[in-house]
Amino acid sequence: MKLKIAIQKSGRLYDDSVKLLKDCGIDLKNGVNKLKTEADNFPMEIYFLRDDDIPQYVEDAVADIGIVGENVLYENNKKVDIVEHLGFGKCRLSVAVGRSDQYTGVESLRGKRIATTYPTLVRQFLDKNKVEAEIHEISGSVEIAPGIGLAHAIVDLVSSGSTLFMNGLKEVETVLKSQAVLVRNRDLDAGLQAILDKFLFRIRAVKQAKNNKYILLNAPNDKLNEIIGLLPGMKSPTVLPLAQPGWSSVHSVLNENDFWDIIERLRDAGAQGILVVPIEKMII
Ligand code: ATP
Ligand code: ZN
Repeated sequence: MKLKIAIQKSGRLYDDSVKLLKDCGIDLKNGVNKLKTEADNFPMEIYFLRDDDIPQYVEDAVADIGIVGENVLYENNKKVDIVEHLGFGKCRLSVAVGRSDQYTGVESLRGKRIATTYPTLVRQFLDKNKVEAEIHEISGSVEIAPGIGLAHAIVDLVSSGSTLFMNGLKEVETVLKSQAVLVRNRDLDAGLQAILDKFLFRIRAVKQAKNNKYILLNAPNDKLNEIIGLLPGMKSPTVLPLAQPGWSSVHSVLNENDFWDIIERLRDAGAQGILVVPIEKMII
Protein backbone atom coordinates (compact mmCIF):
# COMPACT_ATOMS: atom_id res chain seq x y z
CA MET A 1 0.00 0.00 0.00
CA LYS A 2 1.30 3.46 -0.92
CA LEU A 3 0.25 6.94 0.12
CA LYS A 4 -0.22 9.12 -2.97
CA ILE A 5 0.87 12.72 -2.55
CA ALA A 6 0.24 15.47 -5.11
CA ILE A 7 2.75 18.31 -5.30
CA GLN A 8 3.18 21.20 -7.73
CA LYS A 9 5.05 20.05 -10.83
CA SER A 10 6.97 23.31 -11.20
CA GLY A 11 6.63 26.76 -9.72
CA ARG A 12 6.94 28.46 -6.38
CA LEU A 13 5.97 25.47 -4.23
CA TYR A 14 7.99 22.83 -6.05
CA ASP A 15 11.42 23.24 -4.43
CA ASP A 16 10.13 23.50 -0.88
CA SER A 17 7.76 20.55 -1.36
CA VAL A 18 10.56 18.30 -2.59
CA LYS A 19 12.82 19.59 0.18
CA LEU A 20 10.20 18.76 2.79
CA LEU A 21 10.09 15.16 1.55
CA LYS A 22 13.88 15.01 1.59
CA ASP A 23 14.11 16.48 5.11
CA CYS A 24 11.64 13.79 6.16
CA GLY A 25 14.10 11.20 4.86
CA ILE A 26 11.98 10.34 1.83
CA ASP A 27 14.15 9.83 -1.28
CA LEU A 28 12.49 10.13 -4.66
CA LYS A 29 13.38 7.78 -7.48
CA ASN A 30 14.83 9.69 -10.39
CA GLY A 31 12.93 8.59 -13.41
CA VAL A 32 11.94 9.89 -16.80
CA ASN A 33 8.31 10.00 -15.81
CA LYS A 34 7.33 13.65 -15.40
CA LEU A 35 3.88 12.89 -14.00
CA LYS A 36 4.73 10.61 -11.10
CA THR A 37 7.51 8.89 -9.23
CA GLU A 38 7.82 6.89 -6.05
CA ALA A 39 9.95 6.93 -2.94
CA ASP A 40 12.79 4.44 -2.48
CA ASN A 41 12.46 4.11 1.25
CA PHE A 42 8.91 5.11 2.19
CA PRO A 43 5.51 3.79 1.00
CA MET A 44 4.74 6.91 -1.03
CA GLU A 45 3.94 7.76 -4.63
CA ILE A 46 4.47 11.35 -5.78
CA TYR A 47 2.31 12.99 -8.45
CA PHE A 48 3.42 16.22 -10.10
CA LEU A 49 0.44 18.44 -10.95
CA ARG A 50 -0.63 22.04 -11.49
CA ASP A 51 -1.31 23.54 -8.10
CA ASP A 52 -4.85 24.59 -9.07
CA ASP A 53 -5.78 20.96 -9.75
CA ILE A 54 -4.48 19.55 -6.48
CA PRO A 55 -7.55 20.18 -4.22
CA GLN A 56 -9.85 18.48 -6.73
CA TYR A 57 -7.57 15.48 -7.13
CA VAL A 58 -7.38 15.08 -3.36
CA GLU A 59 -11.16 15.41 -2.99
CA ASP A 60 -11.60 12.72 -5.67
CA ALA A 61 -8.97 10.47 -4.02
CA VAL A 62 -6.83 10.44 -7.15
CA ALA A 63 -4.23 11.57 -4.61
CA ASP A 64 -4.59 10.85 -0.88
CA ILE A 65 -2.83 14.01 0.25
CA GLY A 66 -1.46 17.14 -1.40
CA ILE A 67 0.58 20.27 -0.84
CA VAL A 68 -1.12 23.48 -1.94
CA GLY A 69 -1.32 27.17 -1.01
CA GLU A 70 -4.21 28.21 1.23
CA ASN A 71 -5.09 30.79 -1.42
CA VAL A 72 -5.81 28.07 -3.99
CA LEU A 73 -7.56 25.90 -1.42
CA TYR A 74 -9.99 28.58 -0.18
CA GLU A 75 -10.67 29.87 -3.68
CA ASN A 76 -11.62 26.40 -4.90
CA ASN A 77 -13.49 25.38 -1.79
CA LYS A 78 -13.02 21.63 -2.19
CA LYS A 79 -13.97 19.02 0.39
CA VAL A 80 -10.54 18.22 1.84
CA ASP A 81 -9.07 18.62 5.34
CA ILE A 82 -6.01 20.65 6.25
CA VAL A 83 -3.72 18.46 8.34
CA GLU A 84 -0.67 20.69 8.72
CA HIS A 85 0.55 24.22 7.98
CA LEU A 86 3.94 23.86 6.37
CA GLY A 87 5.52 27.27 6.92
CA PHE A 88 6.65 27.87 3.33
CA GLY A 89 5.06 29.48 0.24
CA LYS A 90 4.13 32.44 2.40
CA CYS A 91 2.36 35.27 0.62
CA ARG A 92 -0.60 37.64 0.92
CA LEU A 93 -3.61 38.02 -1.28
CA SER A 94 -3.84 41.80 -1.38
CA VAL A 95 -5.79 44.65 -2.86
CA ALA A 96 -3.64 47.13 -4.79
CA VAL A 97 -4.51 50.42 -6.46
CA GLY A 98 -2.57 52.98 -8.50
CA ARG A 99 0.19 54.60 -6.48
CA SER A 100 -1.27 58.07 -6.86
CA ASP A 101 -4.88 56.98 -6.26
CA GLN A 102 -6.70 58.30 -3.21
CA TYR A 103 -7.38 55.36 -0.92
CA THR A 104 -8.99 55.88 2.47
CA GLY A 105 -10.30 52.38 3.21
CA VAL A 106 -12.37 49.56 1.73
CA GLU A 107 -15.11 52.12 0.97
CA SER A 108 -12.82 53.54 -1.71
CA LEU A 109 -13.46 50.36 -3.71
CA ARG A 110 -17.21 50.99 -3.97
CA GLY A 111 -18.38 50.92 -7.58
CA LYS A 112 -14.88 50.19 -8.84
CA ARG A 113 -13.79 47.44 -11.17
CA ILE A 114 -11.39 44.95 -9.59
CA ALA A 115 -9.31 42.55 -11.67
CA THR A 116 -8.32 39.23 -10.10
CA THR A 117 -7.79 35.53 -10.60
CA TYR A 118 -9.46 34.98 -7.19
CA PRO A 119 -13.13 35.92 -7.77
CA THR A 120 -14.50 33.82 -4.89
CA LEU A 121 -12.16 35.24 -2.26
CA VAL A 122 -12.67 38.79 -3.54
CA ARG A 123 -16.46 38.33 -3.45
CA GLN A 124 -16.25 37.14 0.17
CA PHE A 125 -14.00 40.06 1.08
CA LEU A 126 -16.33 42.63 -0.48
CA ASP A 127 -19.43 41.06 1.08
CA LYS A 128 -17.81 40.97 4.50
CA ASN A 129 -17.04 44.68 4.17
CA LYS A 130 -20.46 45.45 2.65
CA VAL A 131 -18.92 47.09 -0.39
CA GLU A 132 -20.32 46.65 -3.87
CA ALA A 133 -17.84 46.53 -6.69
CA GLU A 134 -17.43 44.81 -10.01
CA ILE A 135 -15.18 41.76 -10.06
CA HIS A 136 -13.43 41.24 -13.34
CA GLU A 137 -11.96 37.76 -13.51
CA ILE A 138 -8.86 37.39 -15.64
CA SER A 139 -6.53 34.44 -15.96
CA GLY A 140 -3.11 36.03 -15.48
CA SER A 141 -0.93 39.16 -15.49
CA VAL A 142 -3.37 40.84 -13.16
CA GLU A 143 -0.84 43.50 -12.19
CA ILE A 144 -0.97 45.19 -15.59
CA ALA A 145 -4.77 45.60 -15.56
CA PRO A 146 -4.88 49.12 -14.04
CA GLY A 147 -2.10 50.35 -16.34
CA ILE A 148 -4.02 49.37 -19.48
CA GLY A 149 -7.32 50.72 -18.18
CA LEU A 150 -8.91 47.33 -17.63
CA ALA A 151 -9.56 47.87 -13.91
CA HIS A 152 -9.25 50.44 -11.12
CA ALA A 153 -7.84 48.00 -8.63
CA ILE A 154 -6.52 44.46 -8.46
CA VAL A 155 -6.46 41.61 -5.96
CA ASP A 156 -3.38 39.47 -6.41
CA LEU A 157 -0.72 37.50 -4.55
CA VAL A 158 2.12 39.53 -3.11
CA SER A 159 5.26 38.50 -1.30
CA SER A 160 7.85 41.29 -1.49
CA GLY A 161 5.67 43.84 -3.27
CA SER A 162 8.27 44.49 -5.98
CA THR A 163 5.94 43.40 -8.80
CA LEU A 164 3.32 45.87 -7.60
CA PHE A 165 5.92 48.61 -7.33
CA MET A 166 7.21 47.99 -10.85
CA ASN A 167 3.66 48.34 -12.15
CA GLY A 168 2.99 51.61 -10.38
CA LEU A 169 0.69 50.06 -7.77
CA LYS A 170 0.47 50.22 -3.98
CA GLU A 171 -0.82 47.54 -1.64
CA VAL A 172 -3.76 48.79 0.43
CA GLU A 173 -5.54 45.80 2.00
CA THR A 174 -4.80 42.18 2.87
CA VAL A 175 -7.58 39.81 1.85
CA LEU A 176 -5.85 36.64 3.03
CA LYS A 177 -2.52 35.58 4.50
CA SER A 178 -1.47 32.33 2.91
CA GLN A 179 1.09 29.57 3.24
CA ALA A 180 1.45 26.05 1.92
CA VAL A 181 -0.63 23.43 3.71
CA LEU A 182 -0.85 19.65 3.65
CA VAL A 183 -4.38 18.54 2.76
CA ARG A 184 -5.95 15.13 3.08
CA ASN A 185 -8.77 13.23 1.45
CA ARG A 186 -11.66 12.88 3.91
CA ASP A 187 -12.08 9.10 3.55
CA LEU A 188 -8.60 7.68 3.96
CA ASP A 189 -8.65 4.06 5.00
CA ALA A 190 -6.81 2.99 8.14
CA GLY A 191 -3.73 1.74 6.29
CA LEU A 192 -3.23 4.99 4.41
CA GLN A 193 -3.95 7.02 7.51
CA ALA A 194 -1.21 5.08 9.34
CA ILE A 195 1.30 6.02 6.62
CA LEU A 196 0.11 9.63 6.79
CA ASP A 197 0.61 9.62 10.57
CA LYS A 198 4.19 8.44 10.06
CA PHE A 199 4.79 11.19 7.51
CA LEU A 200 3.22 13.80 9.82
CA PHE A 201 5.39 12.69 12.72
CA ARG A 202 8.44 13.37 10.56
CA ILE A 203 7.11 16.71 9.27
CA ARG A 204 6.56 17.91 12.83
CA ALA A 205 10.06 16.81 13.86
CA VAL A 206 11.52 18.78 10.93
CA LYS A 207 9.42 21.86 11.74
CA GLN A 208 10.36 21.73 15.43
CA ALA A 209 14.02 21.45 14.54
CA LYS A 210 13.82 24.51 12.27
CA ASN A 211 12.44 26.61 15.12
CA ASN A 212 15.05 25.55 17.63
CA LYS A 213 18.81 25.71 18.09
CA TYR A 214 21.15 23.60 20.14
CA ILE A 215 23.29 25.69 22.45
CA LEU A 216 26.53 24.75 24.22
CA LEU A 217 28.36 27.05 26.61
CA ASN A 218 30.93 27.09 29.36
CA ALA A 219 29.90 28.37 32.78
CA PRO A 220 31.84 29.05 35.97
CA ASN A 221 30.40 26.72 38.62
CA ASP A 222 29.49 29.56 40.96
CA LYS A 223 27.21 30.98 38.19
CA LEU A 224 25.71 27.63 37.16
CA ASN A 225 22.37 28.04 38.89
CA GLU A 226 21.79 31.49 37.46
CA ILE A 227 22.73 30.33 33.94
CA ILE A 228 20.63 27.17 34.10
CA GLY A 229 17.72 29.34 35.22
CA LEU A 230 17.90 31.21 31.92
CA LEU A 231 17.72 28.06 29.80
CA PRO A 232 14.40 26.38 29.08
CA GLY A 233 15.76 23.06 27.76
CA MET A 234 13.56 20.18 26.64
CA LYS A 235 13.60 18.65 30.12
CA SER A 236 16.51 20.33 31.86
CA PRO A 237 19.93 21.29 30.53
CA THR A 238 22.78 18.79 30.41
CA VAL A 239 25.67 19.85 32.67
CA LEU A 240 29.13 18.25 32.29
CA PRO A 241 32.32 19.09 34.17
CA LEU A 242 35.12 20.65 32.12
CA ALA A 243 38.73 19.52 32.44
CA GLN A 244 39.48 22.95 33.90
CA PRO A 245 38.42 22.92 37.59
CA GLY A 246 35.57 25.22 38.57
CA TRP A 247 33.95 25.20 35.12
CA SER A 248 31.14 23.23 33.49
CA SER A 249 29.80 22.75 30.02
CA VAL A 250 26.04 23.34 29.67
CA HIS A 251 23.96 22.04 26.74
CA SER A 252 20.38 22.96 25.96
CA VAL A 253 17.80 23.81 23.28
CA LEU A 254 16.60 27.33 22.57
CA ASN A 255 13.59 28.52 20.63
CA GLU A 256 14.35 30.84 17.73
CA ASN A 257 11.94 33.47 19.07
CA ASP A 258 13.66 34.18 22.40
CA PHE A 259 17.08 33.37 21.04
CA TRP A 260 18.94 36.73 21.06
CA ASP A 261 17.42 37.86 24.30
CA ILE A 262 18.55 34.74 26.14
CA ILE A 263 22.03 34.76 24.56
CA GLU A 264 22.63 38.28 25.87
CA ARG A 265 21.49 37.39 29.35
CA LEU A 266 23.67 34.26 29.36
CA ARG A 267 26.71 36.32 28.44
CA ASP A 268 25.91 38.90 31.11
CA ALA A 269 25.60 36.06 33.64
CA GLY A 270 29.15 34.92 32.87
CA ALA A 271 28.71 32.26 30.18
CA GLN A 272 31.65 31.89 27.78
CA GLY A 273 32.40 30.03 24.56
CA ILE A 274 28.76 30.01 23.52
CA LEU A 275 28.17 27.74 20.51
CA VAL A 276 24.86 27.62 18.69
CA VAL A 277 24.23 24.83 16.20
CA PRO A 278 21.29 23.90 13.99
CA ILE A 279 19.20 20.87 14.86
CA GLU A 280 18.33 18.49 12.07
CA LYS A 281 15.36 16.65 13.63
CA MET A 282 13.65 17.14 16.94
CA ILE A 283 11.26 14.71 18.62
CA ILE A 284 9.58 15.87 21.79
P1 ATP B 1 0.83 26.21 -11.79
O1 ATP B 1 1.52 26.04 -13.10
O2 ATP B 1 1.11 25.06 -10.87
O3 ATP B 1 -0.63 26.55 -11.90
P2 ATP B 1 1.07 28.93 -10.74
O4 ATP B 1 1.66 29.85 -11.73
O5 ATP B 1 -0.39 28.95 -10.49
O6 ATP B 1 1.59 27.45 -11.09
P3 ATP B 1 3.03 29.76 -8.76
O7 ATP B 1 3.25 31.15 -9.21
O8 ATP B 1 4.15 28.79 -8.90
O9 ATP B 1 1.69 29.12 -9.33
O10 ATP B 1 2.61 29.85 -7.22
C1 ATP B 1 2.21 28.71 -6.53
C2 ATP B 1 1.80 29.12 -5.12
O11 ATP B 1 2.91 29.68 -4.45
C3 ATP B 1 0.74 30.19 -5.03
O12 ATP B 1 -0.56 29.67 -5.21
C4 ATP B 1 0.96 30.69 -3.60
O13 ATP B 1 0.33 29.82 -2.68
C5 ATP B 1 2.46 30.57 -3.43
N1 ATP B 1 3.19 31.87 -3.50
C6 ATP B 1 4.11 32.30 -2.61
N2 ATP B 1 4.57 33.52 -2.91
C7 ATP B 1 3.95 33.91 -4.01
C8 ATP B 1 4.02 35.10 -4.83
N3 ATP B 1 4.80 36.12 -4.54
N4 ATP B 1 3.26 35.16 -5.92
C9 ATP B 1 2.50 34.11 -6.24
N5 ATP B 1 2.38 32.98 -5.50
C10 ATP B 1 3.09 32.87 -4.40
ZN1 ZN C 1 -1.70 27.62 -10.60
